Amino acid sequence: MKVIDHINQAKNTIISFEVLPPVKGKGIEALYRHLDPLMEFNPAFINVTYHRSEHVFKKNADGSFKKVIVRKRPGTESICAAIMNRYNVDTVPHLICGGFDINETEDALINLHYLGIDNVLVLRGDAAKNETTFEPEPGRHRYASDLLKQVVNLNAGVYLEDDLKDTHKTQFCIGVAGYPEKHFEAPNMQTDLKYLKEKMDCGADYIVTQMFFDNAKYYAFVKACREIGITAPIIPGLKPIYSKKQLNVLPKTFHIDLPSELSNEILRCKTDEEVEQIGTEWLIAQSRDLIENGVPVLHYYTIGKPHVVANAVKRL
Ligand SMILES: Cc1cc2nc3c(=O)[nH]c(=O)nc-3n(C[C@H](O)[C@H](O)[C@H](O)COP(=O)(O)OP(=O)(O)OC[C@H]3O[C@@H](n4cnc5c(N)ncnc54)[C@H](O)[C@@H]3O)c2cc1C
Repeated sequence: MKVIDHINQAKNTIISFEVLPPVKGKGIEALYRHLDPLMEFNPAFINVTYHRSEHVFKKNADGSFKKVIVRKRPGTESICAAIMNRYNVDTVPHLICGGFDINETEDALINLHYLGIDNVLVLRGDAAKNETTFEPEPGRHRYASDLLKQVVNLNAGVYLEDDLKDTHKTQFCIGVAGYPEKHFEAPNMQTDLKYLKEKMDCGADYIVTQMFFDNAKYYAFVKACREIGITAPIIPGLKPIYSKKQLNVLPKTFHIDLPSELSNEILRCKTDEEVEQIGTEWLIAQSRDLIENGVPVLHYYTIGKPHVVANAVKRL
């Protein structure tokens, strides 16, 4: 079932989770151990992130370097199918521009269609680790909106080979990313919102936000979106805090702020167990407030410590 149908049919706020594919070489059992305790909350859907391949330089015995391609977490599409099969739950694979050419994208979409997966979250992806800015290779998409257009085309039966006859129209429900604290490359919020509106006008069905820790920022974002004519559901993304290290890592990695009330409390903690308690209470308070304000879905980034998410969701 499509994400948009879950939202439209729900009487109350629904729950969804996001997971990462396992690290290559580790097998899928660790992912099942991660998800098993979360399934009691009946998530409407589960997102699986996509990880691009990277070029790395490995040293040869003679001291020279060779360039190799490494993909740390492959398998997004098949993991979605495996999760669907094991838990009978809908899945949302992420698709990115970086590291995918348009033919590979089309093949991935065809595979997803054959697997019975009719949801995708369409993203640009970040720059490769050895690049400072995102630069697509020739023949690849530059913006999420370009990838989105390819999915919309396939939904209209338009494939890359234009001589195909009587083509099947796929039915993908398409999500895109939104940033309550602005995407870090955008010169200002207004410009970022303009491009978000473009994604919606191209045919996206809903938005999932970057994590935020201050609900006021989410509400301001929703208001600004509505003011420029974005009417689609805006799903808040929520992440638990469970270690002091996150005080610096989260702002650096995701370009977000932590409210001083939260950071001050965390700084007073002596152990990460204490931080986890503070983080759990914060997540519960954020979630309850969002439910009271009628959000369609609470989408939890479960990466790292699923039990923190479970402990919070249990108390909603
Ligand atoms: C919910 C969520 C899930 C994510 N999952 C993944 C994942 O699985 N894998 C992964 O690698 N990354 C993931 N990311 C990270 C994401 O790929 C990065 O934040 C990336 O830098 C931007 O992606 P985007 O889809 O928002 O890009 P875009 O919408 O393309 O925007 C990127 C930047 O370009 C600007 N822009 C957009 N369109 C135009 C245009 N036409 N002309 C000029 N400027 C434009 C925007 O304002 C923005 O600054 C996720 C992010 C979120 C919020």
